[in-house]
Amino acid sequence: MYSILIKNGRIWNGSRFSYGDIFIDGGKVIELADRIDRDAYFTYDAKGNTVSAGFVDIHTHMKGISPDVYGICIDSVCLPFGVTTAADAGALTGDDSLLNSFAVDSFAYAFAEIKNNSVLTDALDKRIKAYGERLAGLKISFDTTGGEIYDIKPLREVCKISRFLGLPITVHTSGSPVSMLEIVKELKSGDILTHAFHGGANTSVEDDCASLRLAREKGVVIDAGLAGYVHTDFGVFRKAVESGYSPDVISTDITCASAFIRGGRYGMTMCMSVAREAGMSEEAIFRAVTSTPARVLGTESGRLFEGCVADLCVIGGGDELCLTDKAGNTVKSADGYKCLLTVKNGQILYRY
Ligand SMILES: [Zn+2]
Repeated sequence: MYSILIKNGRIWNGSRFSYGDIFIDGGKVIELADRIDRDAYFTYDAKGNTVSAGFVDIHTHMKGISPDVYGICIDSVCLPFGVTTAADAGALTGDDSLLNSFAVDSFAYAFAEIKNNSVLTDALDKRIKAYGERLAGLKISFDTTGGEIYDIKPLREVCKISRFLGLPITVHTSGSPVSMLEIVKELKSGDILTHAFHGGANTSVEDDCASLRLAREKGVVIDAGLAGYVHTDFGVFRKAVESGYSPDVISTDITCASAFIRGGRYGMTMCMSVAREAGMSEEAIFRAVTSTPARVLGTESGRLFEGCVADLCVIGGGDELCLTDKAGNTVKSADGYKCLLTVKNGQILYRY
């Protein structure tokens, strides 16, 4: 363990911006102040950049936890983008000891498989036990293209199990057999609507934002779940922001298929850049990648204060952004967010 002094940054502590210095030692944030003059093993000048609580990505796919067609070495796609806490939102295999072996603080949403319009409960039960303390909730991919799903019944079954266990559900919404509004009607406070701006045939967002309004009223978490260009219509995203329904959470849905096809730049910072182009404020963006997803996961991370675990990142600008969605909308920026430094448990694990 070594000491780190980060000077002159704009600090995002999970709830507001301020300016100052941060001193880290023994894996913890020791001091946060306007000005700190101490000797440190490593001193970093963050002038012109933002020093943020480490990002929290609640929708990823980890190698060994998600199926091989999606799963990716999670540390390699989190740490270069400032993410220090992540959850697998399609967890089928592996266990808590595998999750504990990653450098990134890792959690799992146990995947509810559906056959013939019914949840395979025994397999789900085994999975729930295997993830132990690392279980974040349940996941249903409520998508007719990916499974034997015919109507609302499987969603209701998963809701029933989740209520019984006292766990939230994250619901993949694109391609569902019912409208997004019908999905939200089944959910309760703390459940997660992922791919909320997918713009597919079963959404009513584009017309009246009815499903997002109901989600907000009920305390259902609106998660952008961008998935590169696959599960997000940038036009719908922009319209939702304009209508007052910015996502509560921005997640990547990163997989081995999306991670490296944008020159290795697809990750949390690129999703934040898309959110800025969609009209979100800087404060709303940083909140949606730190304190709010941390609260959704029930972790202490996503905030910076004296005595907290030193999970943080330094974010600058100047990254090139160019993404086209399935609807043909392109978002472009020459000044996208770029991660310059990632500190996990007081250790520098990434430096640009
Ligand atoms: Zn996913």
